[in-house]
Amino acid sequence: MATWDVVIVGGGSAGLSAALMLGRSRRGVLVVDGGRPRNAPAQHMHGVLGRDHTSPLDLLAAGRAELTRYDVAIESGEVAGASLIETDASGDAGALFEVELDSGERHLARRLLVATGLRDELPDIPGLADQWGRGVVLCPYCDGWEVRDRRIAVIASSAANAHQAQLMRQLSADVVFCTQGAVLTPSARAGLDARGIAVEDRSVTEVLADESGRLRGIRLEDGSQWEADAVFVAPRAVPHDDLLRQLRARSMRQGGADQVLVDEDGRTSVRGLYAAGNVVGPRSSVPWAMSSGSLTGAAINADLVDEDVRNALDARG
Ligand SMILES: Cc1cc2nc3c(=O)[nH]c(=O)nc-3n(C[C@H](O)[C@H](O)[C@H](O)COP(=O)(O)OP(=O)(O)OC[C@H]3O[C@@H](n4cnc5c(N)ncnc54)[C@H](O)[C@@H]3O)c2cc1C
Repeated sequence: MATWDVVIVGGGSAGLSAALMLGRSRRGVLVVDGGRPRNAPAQHMHGVLGRDHTSPLDLLAAGRAELTRYDVAIESGEVAGASLIETDASGDAGALFEVELDSGERHLARRLLVATGLRDELPDIPGLADQWGRGVVLCPYCDGWEVRDRRIAVIASSAANAHQAQLMRQLSADVVFCTQGAVLTPSARAGLDARGIAVEDRSVTEVLADESGRLRGIRLEDGSQWEADAVFVAPRAVPHDDLLRQLRARSMRQGGADQVLVDEDGRTSVRGLYAAGNVVGPRSSVPWAMSSGSLTGAAINADLVDEDVRNALDARG
């Protein structure tokens, strides 16, 4: 069984950025990637400096190509499980993880980084999922500019999404906020009204497309329709954090969800176990995921250097 300095689970923006830092530090790294990054349904990625309006998959392909310079192996597949097989009670010395792929292949790693992203759980409205990443999107900074001055519908998951409608009003004067039963405070309602944002209290029952599959608008419970060029929603973020939980990383209830905790270096509560990107933070931003992965990669290398120093001193006796 091969022993790596670091096994990284997930080869999206976070995982590959960590691999770059570790590869450049002459660490032996294995990245195992299922090949389903969160933004795969989007044709173009925006707000990523130097890569604005390019394919998100091209970015990852370029990242993979860059990593061939270093001692970084990338394997397609899913990690099915991981266990901590060795750790020091003092919390000082190294750790050793065993990682098992769904193929049955096993690897050992001195450090384990989980960068597995999250799943967007979409509102259960007929026709909505078919438009995901095209006519139906979530992030004003990722997809707002492209629909400036167009007809925009924001479908709420909670009253807090009134703010999303206000962000969209920055880009277009034609915005409707569909409350979907969420109860708005008088001040939120007044704020929407003051900026000319229509508030629709009838429920949205369908997202409509034309014959070519292009978004056409939304249908309401009484059968009436709003024409729309874009629909913004607020999906529930469901982290792919099974491995972190399997390894008993500490979590805490935050913003209505139970989130695995990491410090600013991506350390979890388990010695040697790190996490980066959307698995531990729901931001919709490739630059943020890259930064999270990059900083965590550097922190892991520093942690390994400390262990190497201890080992060298021990070897001297
Ligand atoms: C529709 C849409 C459009 C977006 N557009 C933009 C945009 O324009 N600009 C922007 O900045 N951001 C955008 N985002 C946000 C962006 O997608 C995320 O911020 C970013 O992908 C997070 O990177 P990550 O590496 O944390 O996770 P991901 O990119 O999701 O990568 C995680 C990787 O881990 C793999 N994985 C998961 N579990 C396992 C496992 N057990 N074993 C092996 N591999 C596993 C997955 O297959 C995946 O390849 C968009 C998001 C969505 C949903």
